[in-house]
Amino acid sequence: MVREFSAGGVVLRRMSDGWHIAAIEPKKEEPPPSQSRRAVPRKQILALPKGLIDKGEDPVETAIREVREETGVIATLIAKLADIKYVYIRTWADRERVFKVVSFYLLRYQSGRIDDVRPEMRIEVHRALWLPLEDAQTKLSYSGERQVVRKAQEYLQTHPEV
Ligand code: ATP
Repeated sequence: MVREFSAGGVVLRRMSDGWHIAAIEPKKEEPPPSQSRRAVPRKQILALPKGLIDKGEDPVETAIREVREETGVIATLIAKLADIKYVYIRTWADRERVFKVVSFYLLRYQSGRIDDVRPEMRIEVHRALWLPLEDAQTKLSYSGERQVVRKAQEYLQTHPEV
């Protein structure tokens, strides 16, 4: 099976109304013309920022770079959270099964404006937003990412100095 390795971040930011994390609504894939008239519109995905690890790149650097590119936010490392794994089938080209591992890091917001992304990133990201941490378990689309955020919440409880 083909393998892919990505890295991403849970970016923490304390606001006046509590902790938030940076999340993205990925751009929906265009359905093939034969399926373009869908009776039920597809639900918008809400996910954590992440992306493929470039050759020779440290996964922490990938996470920080992808957060910057996909959300517009500059963040710094706090700690490693977890690796999540899933299998998906590539819809384009070969319909190959892909085994994917994504390493997630806990990051601290430093600067930048959410959703201030370069025009070319709009191919991948519909919108980036600050998601209240307390809403993550109901709003994030993937169970693996919800588990990663649960780890971030545990970290916050055991490290109140963050
Ligand atoms: P990357 O952001 O790493 O560059 P990508 O955008 O090319 O990757 P994925 O986000 O891995 O690709 O999405 C590929 C497929 O896997 C999609 O069908 C997506 O819905 C699904 N997927 C994405 N994240 C998860 C997850 N955490 N658990 C299960 N399926 C997922």
